[in-house]
Amino acid sequence: MERSCLDCGKAVRGRTDKKFCDDNCRNNYNNHLKSENGLVFKKINSILKKNYNLLAKFNPEGKVKVSKKKMVSERFTFEYHTHTHQIQNGNKYIFCYEFGYLALSNEEFLLVKREEKL
Ligand SMILES: [Zn+2]
Repeated sequence: MERSCLDCGKAVRGRTDKKFCDDNCRNNYNNHLKSENGLVFKKINSILKKNYNLLAKFNPEGKVKVSKKKMVSERFTFEYHTHTHQIQNGNKYIFCYEFGYLALSNEEFLLVKREEKL
């Protein structure tokens, strides 16, 4: 059975568990993987940072109500957050680092700040 190099696609000869032609191909492949992972981290980190900055801007006092419209208009990204916190009455706060929000209705959010004990 012919196997091909995971990096360059050329046929690989030798041991059956060999996945690359040589160390160059192996390094190339691993570096590429690393840089792609790096991009994903970078992209998501920048979204989280932007969300964090917006929450900090909307909520300088630590507690405030903000319309969904306003958050959307400032391009808040609801899909990304760092963690959630559910309180006893079942309400679920969604956090970006120490700033969180709770949907009060379809139109309005309560923004909060919670110091993390690290
Ligand atoms: Zn190769």
